[in-house]
Amino acid sequence: MATTSFVYHTLGLRGYRHLRTEYRGGAVYHHVELCANSRTCRDCGARSHELTLEGCFERTFRALPVGLRRQFVVLHGHEQWCRRCGARLREPIPFTEGKRRHLKAFERYVVELCKIAPIQHVALLLGVSWTLVKDLFKQHLRRRLKKRSLRSVRLLAIDEFSIRKGHKYMTVILDLESGEILHAAEGRSADSVIPFLRKLKAARAPLEAIAMDMWPAYLLAVREVFHDVDVVHDPYHIVSLANAAIDATRRDMYRQLQGPDRKALKGTRFLLLKGGEKLDHTAVPHLQRLESLNRPLYQAYLLKEDLRRFWKMPSRKAARRFLGAWIARALATGLKHMVSLAKTIRAHRHGLLDYFNHRISTGPLEGLNNKIKVLKRQAYGFRDIEYFKLRLAFIHESTPSFAG
Ligand SMILES: [Zn+2]
Repeated sequence: MATTSFVYHTLGLRGYRHLRTEYRGGAVYHHVELCANSRTCRDCGARSHELTLEGCFERTFRALPVGLRRQFVVLHGHEQWCRRCGARLREPIPFTEGKRRHLKAFERYVVELCKIAPIQHVALLLGVSWTLVKDLFKQHLRRRLKKRSLRSVRLLAIDEFSIRKGHKYMTVILDLESGEILHAAEGRSADSVIPFLRKLKAARAPLEAIAMDMWPAYLLAVREVFHDVDVVHDPYHIVSLANAAIDATRRDMYRQLQGPDRKALKGTRFLLLKGGEKLDHTAVPHLQRLESLNRPLYQAYLLKEDLRRFWKMPSRKAARRFLGAWIARALATGLKHMVSLAKTIRAHRHGLLDYFNHRISTGPLEGLNNKIKVLKRQAYGFRDIEYFKLRLAFIHESTPSFAG
């Protein structure tokens, strides 16, 4: 039997009197009325002795369910004439917001469920629309994001990922210390990061370094806003450039060669691109064969493998010496793609060496890739780009299996 204390303790209605409970269509309706001593004027705050009750109105609000049974609160409200200020207004309704048709407590419940289950399931469970659940969760995330401070941001990683097949990109910026995605924007131009960097500057963030690939637009953007922040070019992108150079070299050779030599080259791609530490003893004869058959390609392979040692150097000084020697060796091969790789690396050597000041990379951002992919698979991400970005902002809190 529901009572006044029931609606107080379970539905969070303070100052309401329980009138009756009605069971209709499988749902429970609690009829309530504001207690006289809780009445105030919405305009001047006058208490009940200065208020005269005039018209009646009835509004129904969705409350928390009991198991699978839906519950509603039916408010029997009044219009109040305030003898102090003369206002004629409906009584205030503290348990909901604006014109909403559910309790604040219901919103909080939806938000909690959204943290552990996909929107679709939450909507199904509660018997409300997908849009309502999404909007409530979105509003919650928006409020939280507003409170996020940029005042202590020191180390960042910037990277892009494709949001659709083809060439639609999104740029994301990760705080390497908190693990939060601080910014997400469509495109991968300087314009997709400059507004954020300006905000960071305005917040007087003690920014020290940013990890990124060698994409010139990002570099440009960072330099436009921060003049003395270190830009660190990370291992992932450089090793993948080296792999691309090897692959291109192999393809060139394949085109030039004839007969058995050409045949021998077939099937080496995997061998050449895989990290040396991932190959087992069965790879040794293949590599030896490659060495004897095709010296230049083997050389390129060794250079690529050697480059990976760069990030393990004990100090910046040792790294500088290593890189200088590596560039010289790569240039000396005379192989078109290796020479061009060496030149690129030479042009960006400061960014490579700055790794040793901070030892940061975009690795943690790559690590989020799977979670982003899961989120991406949900078409809504692109139907409602703001919601997608909000979800990205809090992606560090979700588990990879949680699709949303
Ligand atoms: Zn008043």
